[in-house]
Amino acid sequence: MTYLFNPPSVVSVPVLGRGERFPVHRIYCVGRNYVEHAKEMGFTGREPPFFFLKPADALVVVEAGQTGEIPYPSLTRDLHHEIELVVAIGKGGQNIPAAQALEHVYGYAVGLDMTRRDLQGEMKKQGRPWCIGKAFDLSAPIGPITPKEQAGDIAHAAIALHVNGQARQHSSIDKLIWNIAETIEHLSAAWTLQPGDLIYSGTPEGVAAVVSGDLMEGHVAGLGELRVRVR
Ligand code: MN
Repeated sequence: MTYLFNPPSVVSVPVLGRGERFPVHRIYCVGRNYVEHAKEMGFTGREPPFFFLKPADALVVVEAGQTGEIPYPSLTRDLHHEIELVVAIGKGGQNIPAAQALEHVYGYAVGLDMTRRDLQGEMKKQGRPWCIGKAFDLSAPIGPITPKEQAGDIAHAAIALHVNGQARQHSSIDKLIWNIAETIEHLSAAWTLQPGDLIYSGTPEGVAAVVSGDLMEGHVAGLGELRVRVR
């Protein structure tokens, strides 16, 4: 087969302790999945989970021990950090019950759901899709994937983000409104999950702006650190 031009290359994430990389299919993201973050965004209560996507090539893959870099994106004056636990799907499926959902998980990573908050807010106000606020180029930094067997008790892990050494976000994975298994159940009712899918599981409270030069350091207990500088 020949193509008119070179097809895009496969986006992949390193796996701690392995030579093989994790090839990425899609990036699903969960909205408002921690109570205190839902409140800071002006919402309360346990809504059914809802989802949006980012393109796979929005990933900024940061190798173990490295510091990644993102440009300050166009069109915004309010670029926000959202630290998130990322779930890496190793086995696909449809209508996966929560009780079996964790069998579909390959591992976990630390991710940042970077958000052009001003554009997202404008789209919300107008009832339009969030794409321009969420799914922009280089909006999804991610660190290496830790296979689930090595990740420890991820369901109760601490999650935190520091900016220039100052604490900004701090919570625990057990404060997810919809836990990982329930999220997979809901997601797989709407889409057929494939090996290579990533799920950004939502951010805790404390989202705020970053500016050029800021260094973000994300952390989930049991996984590697994710360090990203805004250029
Ligand atoms: Mn998010």
